[in-house]
Amino acid sequence: MLTTIIYRSHLRENVPFKALEGMVASANIKNRQADVTGILLFNGTHFFQLLEGPDQEVKAIYQTICEDERHTNVVELLCDYGPSRRFGNVGMELFDLRDHNKSDVLQNVLDKGTSKYQLTYNDRALQFFRTFVEATEKENYYQIPDADSWDFIPSDKPYCIDPQNLPANADCRFAFQPIIDPLSQEIMSVEALLRTASGESPKAYFETLSGDEVYHADLKSKETAFALAAALQLHDQTLSVNLLPMTLVNDPDAVPRLLQAIEVNGLIPEQIIVEFTETEVISQFDAFTQAVRSLKAAGISVAIDHFGAGSAGLLLLAQFQPDRIKINRDLIRDVHKSGPRQAIIQAIIKCCLSLEILVSAVGVEKPEEWMWLESAGISLFQGHLFAEPCLDGIPAVAWPEKKTAL
Ligand code: C2E
Ligand code: MN
Repeated sequence: MLTTIIYRSHLRENVPFKALEGMVASANIKNRQADVTGILLFNGTHFFQLLEGPDQEVKAIYQTICEDERHTNVVELLCDYGPSRRFGNVGMELFDLRDHNKSDVLQNVLDKGTSKYQLTYNDRALQFFRTFVEATEKENYYQIPDADSWDFIPSDKPYCIDPQNLPANADCRFAFQPIIDPLSQEIMSVEALLRTASGESPKAYFETLSGDEVYHADLKSKETAFALAAALQLHDQTLSVNLLPMTLVNDPDAVPRLLQAIEVNGLIPEQIIVEFTETEVISQFDAFTQAVRSLKAAGISVAIDHFGAGSAGLLLLAQFQPDRIKINRDLIRDVHKSGPRQAIIQAIIKCCLSLEILVSAVGVEKPEEWMWLESAGISLFQGHLFAEPCLDGIPAVAWPEKKTAL
């Protein structure tokens, strides 16, 4: 089996073009030993390379390429498997697109092909060549700075609830995590995350319950969440709470009970966002949408959490449009390095823009993930990069500050 990897990258500014010839020569020796062939294109700023060969060898060489300091923003566009090589010549030459006429450059590239059949556009790999050569996707090649070009500087201190003000008889606790706009240095919202009495995860909390107990506990826990939020003095920030969709359906009084708990704690419905994760099939969709309508009628906003993961996907969005969508770590992990993740997130952003739905990213851990997502148009973030959830309080936020060149 042959593995094909295609990536795109950006030549570092301080690397002279001349240095590339040496680089290609030494890479060729290694590639030949590993039986890896392909073609390397350069357009004056960006590289585009196809590597083909045995799986392990292609991946090992790609790993070395990713670590090469002479280029940045290495994005894997394709990883695929096929029966035969497209570019089988040993010795991978550097094909400089600038040396060719625009009209026949693509044909000149394809002429380098060694496949016994005519290289055709039915092939995804070759479609990638066309888009690179014709530069039709160039506006999506975000140039993000190195991770260490930012400092993350914690704001003063966390805000913890006075232990005397913690609800005495609750069987659960909450950790709070801010949702921030890093560039304007504003906390836009705070999410209440369920914890067991000993501070363990929501999963641990729900595991001890069975059947309808899960929905009762989920709903009841929100009374604690609202009481804690009142003690946190949110000012003009909104409060996000999570609910299983079926929690709203299971109890016909769920919405009035939520509204009552909001009022009792001196909060207002317009301040509250209810986030749904579709971890289980919504078996009574009509009852669910009816409950959502009641929430909306009371002034509460609604978000779809973990959008794109599991079944919280396009069909749900077709059936019901929330105020917000949260993309979580499953999709944004290493987005700066992955063509497929970039394409999916750009499509979600575009779709949400058309529907006037606010998009945020959850689980941001790396500066590069954040910078890529900002470039793509997201401005609301939640993640360990900025603040980890804080039990019984709001954590200090590490705000990004651009390092100034010395
Ligand atoms: P979620 O609503 O997407 O909440 C964010 C989760 O991601 C939290 O996990 C948080 O600790 C974690 N997280 C935040 N930033 C990062 C990061 O940078 N990296 C990583 N690896 N993780 C990060 P947690 O608190 O364990 O909650 C897990 C899920 O449990 C929540 O995901 C939510 O779907 C659910 N959940 C939380 N509270 C409740 C609740 O009151 N009711 C229900 N039904 N579900 C809840
Ligand atoms: Mn959530």
